[in-house]
Amino acid sequence: MGEFKVNGDRLMETLRDLIRIPSVNPSLVPGGDGEAAVGAYVEGRLARLGLSVERQDLGAGRVNIIATLKGAGGGGGSAAGAGGAAPGRGRSLMLNGHLDTVGVAGMEIDPFDPRVEGNRVYGRGSHDMKASLAAMIEVAEALVEGHARLAGDLVLTFVADEEYASIGTERVAQTHRADAAIVCESTGLDIVNVHKGFAWVRVGVYGVAAHGSLADAGVDAIAKAGRFLVEMERYGRDVLGARSHPVVGSPSVHASLIKGGTELSTYPDRCVVELERRVIPGETRQMVADEMAGLVRAAGAGDPRFKAEAELFFYRSPMEVGAEEPIVKALERAHQAVVGRPAALGGMGGWCDTSILTDAGIPAVLFGPGGSGAHAAIEWADFDQVVTATKVLGEVVREFCGSGE
Ligand SMILES: [Zn+2]
Repeated sequence: MGEFKVNGDRLMETLRDLIRIPSVNPSLVPGGDGEAAVGAYVEGRLARLGLSVERQDLGAGRVNIIATLKGAGGGGGSAAGAGGAAPGRGRSLMLNGHLDTVGVAGMEIDPFDPRVEGNRVYGRGSHDMKASLAAMIEVAEALVEGHARLAGDLVLTFVADEEYASIGTERVAQTHRADAAIVCESTGLDIVNVHKGFAWVRVGVYGVAAHGSLADAGVDAIAKAGRFLVEMERYGRDVLGARSHPVVGSPSVHASLIKGGTELSTYPDRCVVELERRVIPGETRQMVADEMAGLVRAAGAGDPRFKAEAELFFYRSPMEVGAEEPIVKALERAHQAVVGRPAALGGMGGWCDTSILTDAGIPAVLFGPGGSGAHAAIEWADFDQVVTATKVLGEVVREFCGSGE
C-alpha cells in the first residue's frame, strides 16, 4: 500500500484559507462571525471532491458540516468482530474538528492574515484547531486522489461551538454513528485517551433582610456563605486531594463567582456562590451532586439560622478509553509506521468533545499536531507536525476502515 501520500503545498494553502475566514464563536464573543462562512468553505471543498456532504443548521449562523466518504463494504478479516462492525462491512471511523475559535482581543499578531515563518503558521485558530481541520480535508483529498477504496465509512465532522457549549458535537452524537472517533485537537502528536470532566454548581445561601441596626432580626447571607466556602476549601484539600487517577491526578474544587448584598446598611438576604468541580474518571454527576449537598449540611451543622441549597447546573463527564481499544492500537501502529516510533499515550486536564462521543457509545480519543498559543496573544501551528499528523490520520483511516472490495 505504501506510505500515505500528502500534498504539503495543498495542505498549507488549505490551512491559510481557513485562517483567513474568521470563525470567532459568537456565544463567547458577541458579534463573532460564527461557523457559517468557514463551514461553507469546507462544504465546498469536500463536495467538489465527491464526498456526500450534509450541513446541519444549528440556528443563528451556527453550522456543522458532515462529509462522508462511503465505504464499499468488505474489509475482510480486519473487521471481523472488531468495533461492533457487521460482518462483511469495514469499520467506520469519525474524525472530528471544531470550526470555531476563541476571540482575538489583545492578540499581538494579525489574527486573520496567516503569516508563515520557518515551520510556523501564525493566526487565530491556527493551532486550535484549523491546522487539524486542514489535515482532515487533506486526508480526504489524498484518499480520493489515490482512488482509495475503503471498506467502512470515513465520516468527517466539522462542528460548531466547541469553545463554548459544544452544541455541534452534541448534535453529531445524536445523528451519526461510527465504530470509533478521533477528535483531532492539537496534542503534539500524542494520543490522549483520558481527560477530566467538570461540574458547575450554584449554591444559594439565604438570610433575612433587615436594617443594619437590627441585629436580632437580620441574618447575614454573605457571612453564612463564608461557612460554606470554608467547608468547600477543606473538602477540596482533605478529601479530593487524597483521591487520584494514575494519569490525570486529583479532582479539585474552587469558587468562581460570588454575588450578594444590596447596600451597606442592610443585612443581605441572599448570597450566591458559583463554583467549579473538576472530575476524574470514576467520579459521576450524582457523586458530585451528593457531595455538594453534604457540604451544605456540614456548613450548617449547629447553626439553625443557616439556610442554603446547592444545584448542579452543568456537567461534562470525564473520559477514559482503554489503552487496548482498537482505535488506540490503530493510532499507535500508524504513528509507528509514519514516525518510526510509537506515539506517547497520555492524559490531559482540560475537557474535550471526546467525552460527548464516548458517552454516546463512540470510543473517542484525541490526536493532532502541535503548536502554541491556543486562546493566547500569539498563536501558531507547527507545520511539520501538521504534515505528520495528516499522514498518521491517513494511515489510521486506511487501516481502521479497511480496504474495500
Ligand atoms: Zn480546540
